[in-house]
Amino acid sequence: MSAAVLRLAGVRKRFGETEVLQGIDLTVDRHEVVALIGASGSGKSTLLRAINLLEPIDDGQIHLGDEDISDPRADADAVRARIGVVFQHYNLFPHLSVLDNVTLAARRVHHVPRREAEQRARDLLDGIGLGDKAKEFPDRLSGGQQQRAAIVRAIATDPELLLLDEVTSALDPELVGEVLELVRQLKAGGTTIIMATHEMAFARDVADRVVFLDHGVIAEAGPPAQLFGAPQQQRTKEFLARFSGWTPSAP
Ligand code: ADP
Ligand code: MG
Repeated sequence: MSAAVLRLAGVRKRFGETEVLQGIDLTVDRHEVVALIGASGSGKSTLLRAINLLEPIDDGQIHLGDEDISDPRADADAVRARIGVVFQHYNLFPHLSVLDNVTLAARRVHHVPRREAEQRARDLLDGIGLGDKAKEFPDRLSGGQQQRAAIVRAIATDPELLLLDEVTSALDPELVGEVLELVRQLKAGGTTIIMATHEMAFARDVADRVVFLDHGVIAEAGPPAQLFGAPQQQRTKEFLARFSGWTPSAP
């Protein structure tokens, strides 16, 4: 078996007249952290949703491990059980406690006994300083705590791949750091991650590879030092220039 967790080949997606994904080729290796950057509307969310089979694609293939998950015969629920996903907001079920949120997939989808699922969930919540919030409902948590709980829920079943779609975009600035710190911890623990983000400094610091999406095309991809430090494409330079404080020579 290859080290690739995910392989996209020629992935195309159209909404009406607009081709939102125009032939995406992307391979993500085990333990790799890929930052997906690009302007609003460039197709980042559509790409992540396609990987999680929330958007049927019009052309191309998506392999998760050795399975062609773009095959219409693929079992979408079984595929989604192998992928963790966290969106920008509204990730937690409001009527369930944090503990029940985190254990739900383990119990319902993976049929882990409740005691075992709860022990694992408590260990994970303790590990991120949310042990005392286990029995609270999500609305009693700050936005940053909710997003961290959502990330813990997404990894509670040890997915092969974690998709993060702008998980800090809806947060007050002072809460962004704690969520990014958790992503950093997951990377250190070897989690394979694709994250759409506008946090350029974080992408530069943590990602193994940065993929710049422009109007549904991968305009440029490479290690962060190269993409941020010496972008090759004019449109990459223009995109990065819009983020204040960014200069090609910044450390
Ligand atoms: P990003 O996440 O990079 O901001 P999206 O993937 O959300 O971009 O959107 C890419 C383009 O696809 C946008 O022009 C958006 O309006 C369009 N789009 C996304 N979802 C739908 C949909 N369900 N129906 C029609 N157009 C959509
Ligand atoms: Mg988006």
